[in-house]
Amino acid sequence: MKTVENNPSSLILLFGATGDLAKRKLYPSLYNLFKKGHLSDRFAVIGVARRLKDDEEFRNWVKDSVETYGEEIDHLNEFISHFYYQSHDVTESESYKQLKTLVDELDHTYQLQGNRIFYLAMSPEFFGTVAEHLKEDGLTDTKGFKRLVIEKPFGHNLESAIKLNKRIRNSFKEEEVYRIDHYLGKEMVQNIEVIRFANAVFEPLWNNRYISNIQITSSETLGVEERARYYDKSGAIRDMVQNHMLQMVALLAMEPPIRLTTKEIRSEKVKVLRALRPIEDHEVHNYFVRGQYGEGTINGISVPAYREEPNVPHDSNTETFVAGKFLIDNFRWAGVPFYIRTGKRMEKKSTNIIVQFKDIPMNLYYKNGSSLNPNLLVIHVQPEEGITLHLNVKKTGEVMETTPVTLNFSTKNIDGINTPEAYEKLLFDCLRGDATNFTHWDEVALSWRFVDKISEAWANEKADFPNYSAGSMGPKCADELLERDGFFWWPVHF
Ligand code: NAP
Repeated sequence: MKTVENNPSSLILLFGATGDLAKRKLYPSLYNLFKKGHLSDRFAVIGVARRLKDDEEFRNWVKDSVETYGEEIDHLNEFISHFYYQSHDVTESESYKQLKTLVDELDHTYQLQGNRIFYLAMSPEFFGTVAEHLKEDGLTDTKGFKRLVIEKPFGHNLESAIKLNKRIRNSFKEEEVYRIDHYLGKEMVQNIEVIRFANAVFEPLWNNRYISNIQITSSETLGVEERARYYDKSGAIRDMVQNHMLQMVALLAMEPPIRLTTKEIRSEKVKVLRALRPIEDHEVHNYFVRGQYGEGTINGISVPAYREEPNVPHDSNTETFVAGKFLIDNFRWAGVPFYIRTGKRMEKKSTNIIVQFKDIPMNLYYKNGSSLNPNLLVIHVQPEEGITLHLNVKKTGEVMETTPVTLNFSTKNIDGINTPEAYEKLLFDCLRGDATNFTHWDEVALSWRFVDKISEAWANEKADFPNYSAGSMGPKCADELLERDGFFWWPVHF
């Protein structure tokens, strides 16, 4: 079983303390951990950002964040009393010296035994700089544990990811680096492993003898919002496929680990990524297609085209949609396509996984051209969380005909429990030293190697954009990708 520390006393240094992620996700998540008793009295948080604030102003900022984004608030004043602020420019060495003084002081006051988590909730351009300064200025020199939590994106391609990793690894060992992929904190993504390995009805069928294809969709109704400066350089393939989509593929396809340890699970995921069939430049279009939204209507409201969004160049070649086919060349999966699609300004917000089982060898109930629906296992990741199993049963009545039915499980049905936010679980894992749901460098490197091929091919070819209307489920080429193999996308709300 996992070896984790049960008493997570720690100092959390939060770089980017005044940013959007901290405000919307991190403070409410820390507060939930506090409320559930998962943070002992021995914790303190130092918020770090450039703007000038004193501790009291910062505490009010945190309070406001919890009141705005949190639920069932009590003991909030006690919670915020653990928060401290340091105005600090991460590019300046002098700031780290002041920070170290505060760190040593709080370490003593809260008896934190030198345990430190450095959470970089800021622009990736600073990741390497901060990691280097932390070492140079003595902050990583501690007798307790030290962990570095890094937000996405980890590099822009394999080359930049290698450079960044080298800088980080000069200050932290691989096992001290917690690379966030918040999809790995989602309840139903974590459930993939349990659905597969705790159910005799699924695991024996989980292979190319019984599964015809797997479809993963992650669609958003939102456009690029305020992220255009970052997004236009990234596009959907780097923003979603290199990390979240490939992580879901790896969890769906991996072999059962011999134990549920971080090392064993990661090692099985890495084997999947190594088995991905490489794509040559000239065949990219056979496996991956891209799209960019034009104007359209979502929930009755007209929305502009991507190229008309603020800070997006009028001739942008950036994809806001990707659909693709992964083939995994191993004994279990040879011949089974894993289709993925992800995009912005689509018809519905949804992340789900549909496992389509092969048709049974013959249809005994065939009548007048009727065909049996295939069995499907749908894993609803968000906004709904649960699973649906699609079966065929006898139509009630005198005739021997079939009708499709569904068996549903929704996490909402369990005693009214709200499943914790992904960030809450990931922060708790990090406090306890459990890195299972964070990405290892080997996974990052293999994913970039695969994705780079596609983005390089696309960079050399002007796309015919826009090619899908906002409010649709993506461009026609995404449907054709499956039609060529005799399949179609199942509806996302199914
Ligand atoms: P953001 O709102 O732009 O916040 C950036 C933070 O960094 C601010 O607190 C800013 O504060 C601080 N900062 C900027 N330059 C600094 C400097 N030189 N020295 C010290 N502090 C500096 O960014 P965000 O949306 O929170 O995103 C943070 C990270 O999380 C990014 O890597 C992003 O990709 C990732 N992420 C964000 C979300 C999300 O929902 N927002 C989701 C997933 C991943 P000052 O201006 O006061 O210095």
